[in-house]
Amino acid sequence: MDVGLLIDFEHIIKPRKLIRLQNKIFPIPDGYANSVRGLILIIPKNDYTTLKQLKNGDDRVQYINSQEFIDNISGHAYVLYNKHKLVCELICAECSLLPIVVQSTLMSIPNDVTLFVSTKLHDPNIDKSIQQYVKLDFNEVYISEKSPIGYTVKEPRLYMTRKNDVIESSNVDTSINNTKYIVKQLKSLQNDNSCKLRVKLSEKAINYLQSVSMIGSTMNRDGAITQKEIAGRLVVGNIGDDLTHYLDVDRSSIVHGNEEEVQIIDGLYNFHSHPVEAYDRHNKKYGWPSSQDYIGFFGASISYDTILHIVSSIEGFYVISLGSFWAKNKNILKTKNIKFILEECNIDVETPTLYLKEVNKVSMDGHQLFNVQFFSWNDADSLVAVNYTNNDLNCFTNKETLSKYKVL
Ligand SMILES: [Zn+2]
Repeated sequence: MDVGLLIDFEHIIKPRKLIRLQNKIFPIPDGYANSVRGLILIIPKNDYTTLKQLKNGDDRVQYINSQEFIDNISGHAYVLYNKHKLVCELICAECSLLPIVVQSTLMSIPNDVTLFVSTKLHDPNIDKSIQQYVKLDFNEVYISEKSPIGYTVKEPRLYMTRKNDVIESSNVDTSINNTKYIVKQLKSLQNDNSCKLRVKLSEKAINYLQSVSMIGSTMNRDGAITQKEIAGRLVVGNIGDDLTHYLDVDRSSIVHGNEEEVQIIDGLYNFHSHPVEAYDRHNKKYGWPSSQDYIGFFGASISYDTILHIVSSIEGFYVISLGSFWAKNKNILKTKNIKFILEECNIDVETPTLYLKEVNKVSMDGHQLFNVQFFSWNDADSLVAVNYTNNDLNCFTNKETLSKYKVL
């Protein structure tokens, strides 16, 4: 059986000029400021035991530079470790040895460190590498021209990360499809500079959202019970092979507002309800988004990177996203546009179809401001297509990955 042996390259190999060993471990990556290089050698368990029985220092160094030891090395990898940023980049010549490499980092490197592996985007074996990485729980993915250690690479690479700890495995197919989506969207970004997402509500999300206009009653101070608006976050659950993202309701995010409004919840996807009691109070047949709802989404798209907002109503659900021009140019949206939105998105017509026609006409600086779609509950499993804003070379659909990317 083979095991991994982590050796401090800077302090043990570099100063001692271990020529025989150095010939075996090419190419040696450059060293970078604030980071140290570790070398992981894949060796037979017996050799590992022999080494551990030797005295620390010269005896051990002599042994690892011996021909016998070197002949038994079946592979190697480098670990670039930045202890200030708590990141570790793994550079392996032979990806198939990665399971032993990760075993070795789990044992020898602090567990609060995040591990990174990467592959060239044009690598013909990219699919194989992705599968290998995902199997080892490298689940979060992004594309960058900068290594997590801080140096720049010649062409963008696909990075995949995981905590250097025991982690709960997630759905392998979804993780692979998420990676495929990120790679595919880079091409879309290069074509027309915006991210395109196709989502569907999961069956559970449909069940919840369809009911949410009929629930939400709480007791008021005077003892009367009235129905309140409910808001919450949606998150991507599964991603299908056709790269459709299925949204689930994050039940831990649910909040109650008052009868007429509720705060918008931080998230890439969020929703709020229009309670049935409000229909009666305002003598309305339909409960499409209010102009205040557009202010809410507008603010959330700037503050929380919200991609889409759902208004759940009795008749179905309305999906608000940015118009395609503004999805590409979100950075020039300003809060001073609020008065304009309040006036323009206050629309009083007869039916949802007429409503969509009017609200989708609202344009700012000559470009459609919001893209609003409506689906009756009978069509609740329809595909919803939206445009949204990229982060550099990435179209993130997951808030955790986006937040981690922003602080890299
Ligand atoms: Zn509302």
